Amino acid sequence: MKSFILFILLCTTSLFGISQKAFDKDTLTSPTGNVIVIFIGHGSLLLEWNGKYIYMDPSSREADLYQFPKADMIFVTHHHGDHCDEAALKALTKEKTKTFMSSIAHEKWHQGMVLFNDQQLSIDGVGITVVPAYNLEHMNPDGLPFHKKGECNGYVLTLGDLRLYVAGDTENTPEMKELKNIDAAFIPMNLPYTMTPEMVVDAVKAFKPKVLYPYHYDRKFLPQLEEEMKTVNGVELRIKKS
Ligand code: ZN
Ligand code: ZN
Repeated sequence: MKSFILFILLCTTSLFGISQKAFDKDTLTSPTGNVIVIFIGHGSLLLEWNGKYIYMDPSSREADLYQFPKADMIFVTHHHGDHCDEAALKALTKEKTKTFMSSIAHEKWHQGMVLFNDQQLSIDGVGITVVPAYNLEHMNPDGLPFHKKGECNGYVLTLGDLRLYVAGDTENTPEMKELKNIDAAFIPMNLPYTMTPEMVVDAVKAFKPKVLYPYHYDRKFLPQLEEEMKTVNGVELRIKKS
């Protein structure tokens, strides 16, 4: 049984005292510390957990990131400019910020630590598993995938007893479908670069995250996704308002 939640639009002035645009937020609750998810826009997320500020693919096109808290951790999924943005990294980095990137993103920006597909590690109490992110069907006109296997990362972050999967730019790969015990999955849905609604539904039917957040998506696909998710039991679809 799918439940559908439109969650609350945050008042701009209540977020870090920022007065720029409204950001959607949601909370995942846990005895080991709630995770507050702030949707900065496009593929950019801020996860706040036990006083840590963890950014995923921050983009300076989406917000004035100088108004945001400095990062404890920044994860970059891949080298494309809307995911790996030097101005955003500069705005959010402090002396102790730890930055993690795919290898090609690192070749471009030379920041932080390289993480490869399938790598697993734990840093500062955060468990990190790197999930391959790539296209199976959607190709450039030259026949090459927009995202080639081995070049781009998705991340499963373990924060206390919550496991969050941020997919990056990918399709419904076998590796995604084999994931286990995911509390919340952030899945892209835009064409031609990532997934159709059918691909999203196919994936979540397989790995059954407790919560599905479409992110980095085209709103025109939402009605189809909502309709098709009615056939999926045990996955709660949460759609941000803006
Ligand atoms: Zn991309
Ligand atoms: Zn993208």
